[in-house]
Amino acid sequence: MNDQDHSYGAEGIGYMDGEYMGFSDLRIPVTDLGFQLADMCYDAIHVTDGRYFRLDDHMDRFEAFIAERGYDSLGHDRETMIRVMDGCMARTGFRDAFLMLVATRGVPTSAKKDLRTCRNRLIVWAMGYHTVVTDEELENGCNIIVADTIRIPEQAVDPSIKNFGRLDFVRAMSEAYEKGSQYAVLLDGDGLVTEGRGWNIFALTEGRLISPEKGVLEGITRRTVLELSEQLNVEATLGKLHVDALRGADEAFLTSTAGGIMPVRAIDDKPVGDGAPGPVTKRLTTLYWDLHKNPDYTTAVDYGAADA
Ligand SMILES: *Cc1c(COP(=O)(O)O)cnc(C)c1O
Repeated sequence: MNDQDHSYGAEGIGYMDGEYMGFSDLRIPVTDLGFQLADMCYDAIHVTDGRYFRLDDHMDRFEAFIAERGYDSLGHDRETMIRVMDGCMARTGFRDAFLMLVATRGVPTSAKKDLRTCRNRLIVWAMGYHTVVTDEELENGCNIIVADTIRIPEQAVDPSIKNFGRLDFVRAMSEAYEKGSQYAVLLDGDGLVTEGRGWNIFALTEGRLISPEKGVLEGITRRTVLELSEQLNVEATLGKLHVDALRGADEAFLTSTAGGIMPVRAIDDKPVGDGAPGPVTKRLTTLYWDLHKNPDYTTAVDYGAADA
């Protein structure tokens, strides 16, 4: 027990370096390059009523991140990673949870800090489901700002690998707080919309949905929305979304594993559409949560894995 126990997630269970432990006991050495260089990648998965949402898609994505980072001494393949996830879930007993999978470069074996001498590290934790957005925001939508801070260019850091190197988001968040908002969307150097801290964005214009194709993390929620739009007969594409097109949209919403589909009611204090969540946003939200009960999109947690 320590003084972090008051923080969120305290009931959670984690795993690192081959051992399960309480969430508050998880810690990496300050020499881990995941801390020093943000040389890491991660994924976040949602469990609803004892079932992982799109487990294979998340594992495909996380494995792709690991391969691109070149973490070949992680010591865990897909099967053992899922075993560990089940192990964390079983120890918590949670039916609704977030699973975090984190891989870090690890600690170099010499003072030269040669990246190639590191033993890569896997950290997993399960914490009770908490939505990162309030019910009021889900009901009425949120007010976002367009930040002056631009997204780190993809030529510098590949945004399609989920990572904690996010000082652009930190600066954009400060801008948002100053303007009384909690959410900032970042543009690239050409005035094209990218994304915000932990979410993708969609705009509906003349009945067509568009979400930025480049310079973003390829969200599982974004993919789900693209698939669901087909069911609704709404044309949905990835492409270039100029900030003026976003401002003039009839509907807009944010997508993330941690928040689902969140309507945007205003951008820089100007209402989007009539300033209330629109019909397409609402229909997508219903379909999205229905999918969490669909066996084709979900995988049962093995709660018998407590001795794994
Ligand atoms: C996680 C994340 C998203 C959303 O991805 P999901 O797979 O839908 O949760 C979007 N942008 C960034 C920067 C993210 O970290």
